[in-house]
Amino acid sequence: MTPHSDTTTAHGTAPLDAPRLVDGLRSVFATGRTKPVAWRRNQLEALRTLLTENSDALLAALHADLGKGPEEAYRTEVGFTVNEIDHTLAHLDAWLAPRPAALPERLLPAEGSVVREPLGVVLVIAPWNYPLQLALAPVVGALAAGNCVVVKPSELAPATSAEIARLLPRHLDRDAVAVVEGAVPETTALLEQRFDHIFYTGNGTVGRIVMTAAAKHLTPVTLELGGKSPALVDEGVDLAAAARRIVSGKFLNAGQTCVAPDYVLAVGDTARALEPHLAAAVTELYGTDPAARTEYGRIVNERHFDRLTGLLDSGRTVIGGIHDRATRYLAPTVLADVRGDSPVMREEIFGPVLPVVQVPDLDAALAFINGRDKPLALYAFTDSPTTKQRLLTETSSGALTFGIPVAHLTAPELPFGGVGESGMGRYHGEYSIDTFSHSKAVLDKPLPATTG
Ligand code: NAD
Repeated sequence: MTPHSDTTTAHGTAPLDAPRLVDGLRSVFATGRTKPVAWRRNQLEALRTLLTENSDALLAALHADLGKGPEEAYRTEVGFTVNEIDHTLAHLDAWLAPRPAALPERLLPAEGSVVREPLGVVLVIAPWNYPLQLALAPVVGALAAGNCVVVKPSELAPATSAEIARLLPRHLDRDAVAVVEGAVPETTALLEQRFDHIFYTGNGTVGRIVMTAAAKHLTPVTLELGGKSPALVDEGVDLAAAARRIVSGKFLNAGQTCVAPDYVLAVGDTARALEPHLAAAVTELYGTDPAARTEYGRIVNERHFDRLTGLLDSGRTVIGGIHDRATRYLAPTVLADVRGDSPVMREEIFGPVLPVVQVPDLDAALAFINGRDKPLALYAFTDSPTTKQRLLTETSSGALTFGIPVAHLTAPELPFGGVGESGMGRYHGEYSIDTFSHSKAVLDKPLPATTG
């Protein structure tokens, strides 16, 4: 794979000149062109048209990059972004309206308000696993907030990256939105520039590089990172129903989802009883030969394929384990009898391997979760209000859901983001406007009336 290193801007495709690119966008921002709500709406509508009119080409690119089936790719990438745009358009006026702020008695008479203003020129760096959604959903927020944007799609999803670079300049304001394709050298060149916000989605190692580069310019960052999101299964729950939900969240995009349940934490005697239900759920969803099903994806590249197959010895195979390097196929796999310190439990799996770890009771489960990095999401299947309350108050995670994994990210009224090692900052819906705006305090107090 040859990484691209082109910038697609107002002036067509050219070798990347990062200082010139950012200076150009900054001068466009300075004209005030991106500030009117009409411009923002127009951009969002144009992005919506881009997605709907080019849906087939985008789905083909997603299939080329990750073997994504068209239904899943539409739902999680194209349709997801369209929904984000629709939600934003429906609420934009309300979100941008100045918010009156109550003032203390001693300041009166006066009026206070909070006004959201755009930050300026922002950088969005996207990963490969949902290469369209994770490049464009932040762009929705950045444009809605009135910014100029540079978007850097992932070089590990080259077909989708090329489509983004081809389509954005055709549909959006080319003077205000630029696409830079490329890998580490291009991202490094961009990170040397001064941005007003950097929005990065990916792994924590690069997250640290981004934050270090941003610190030089005092640029605020949003880091959407990953980690090991547990799915706790409590005693007494409907194991068949829980297994179905866990399996459908885990094996989406062949497990390459930042909020996929990384492992099952089975409390008490649920581990052994859960095994046949997990196997049955895999067969129900993908049949006996998932390789033949168009809706089951492939591993992004050979490096990740080799990493994942190296984890298969970490437990007893309940179902799956079959793999083919030539097609980067790894069957949906469930591993049982997995120890907390085994290789599969030392890193984020980010693939279709689901280990089941047994813990004796809820206290042990809480200790297990709290003894590790704060996850991007914690999922729990329990009928006990006391257990729910303890999970809510005694653990910390980007999100906590009961009864269903992954779904919280499809609710634009809920903030999406991590905490600790799983990231900082949040977006979706109004939270994106917050991320890409400055909330300016405005105080207006009349001078005293002159006497005499
Ligand atoms: P990736 O390798 O595509 O990297 C992401 C971006 O970082 C790319 O645009 C890439 O060009 C850039 N990059 C890579 N190395 C760089 C370097 N040395 N300097 C500067 N830029 C560099 O994606 P990835 O990191 O493999 O993505 C997987 C990770 O992302 C997982 O940990 C996953 O959990 C996390 N993730 C998080 C979310 C979320 O929303 N929180 C979503 C998806 C993925």
